[in-house]
Amino acid sequence: MTNDVIICVKNLVKTYGNFTAVNGISFDVHKGEIFGLLGQNGAGKSTTLEIIETLRDKTSGEVTVNGYNLDNEPGQIKKIIGVQLQTSGFYPNLYLVELMRLFAGLYNRDADPMHLLKLVNLEEKAKSKFKELSGGQKQRFSIATTLINDPLIVFLDEPTTGLDPQARRNLWQLIRDVRDKGTTVILTTHYMDEAEALCDRVAIMDAGNIIAMDTPDRLIDRLVETGFERPKEVKKANLEDVFIYLTGHEFSQ
Ligand code: ADP
Repeated sequence: MTNDVIICVKNLVKTYGNFTAVNGISFDVHKGEIFGLLGQNGAGKSTTLEIIETLRDKTSGEVTVNGYNLDNEPGQIKKIIGVQLQTSGFYPNLYLVELMRLFAGLYNRDADPMHLLKLVNLEEKAKSKFKELSGGQKQRFSIATTLINDPLIVFLDEPTTGLDPQARRNLWQLIRDVRDKGTTVILTTHYMDEAEALCDRVAIMDAGNIIAMDTPDRLIDRLVETGFERPKEVKKANLEDVFIYLTGHEFSQ
């Protein structure tokens, strides 16, 4: 394993009865990168991530996270990762600062709730309830909860699904900030523009296999080299550009 590999997955298999959800995949995630796992629903992304997160048992294969073998030291792995919780688990009537304190307690961490809220630009909402937040604010809060234990790696599951274009860009910037502080980020997304803009490398999964893995740029170049062309000339702007231009450049929450 080279020094800059933080997650190493080798021949990972997961079967449910006689159905194979993950079919012997191998990949490395490098320290400090944003790594995207792409694929249609059912491709095996969540299963793969949940195995690495120690939340699901594998059938076979080898997973190493920051040098810790999943089979022998899952407890060590848990300590160095941050996993985005389903927002449905957030008590709607607690203030954000209280919720954050609660989660910090669960991690047994002496984290400063206000510092965490500040990291995601929610300090002014400390005395708001979760249910009073906008979609983008909820996502930002949930990202803050992944940072409580000062993790080396954070896992984000479709972090921008359902958000408006500005709020998505705001989240992208937040995710880049997390990466720029040295944290490795693994995310899933169904938005290819998001993967292209945000991910340093992506793996594309299909029916339990990884069918491509590289930087977005190189994957695109390789497709173009095959002679592929878009069916029609692309305009210099698209409707999303129009929307962002008209509704202002300020990021929405
Ligand atoms: P993705 O995250 O890419 O949408 P999943 O990893 O959730 O895909 O699922 C991969 C495949 O495994 C799907 O066909 C799904 O139905 C199946 N699957 C997931 N969890 C279970 C389970 N607990 N029991 C049986 N099949 C499952």
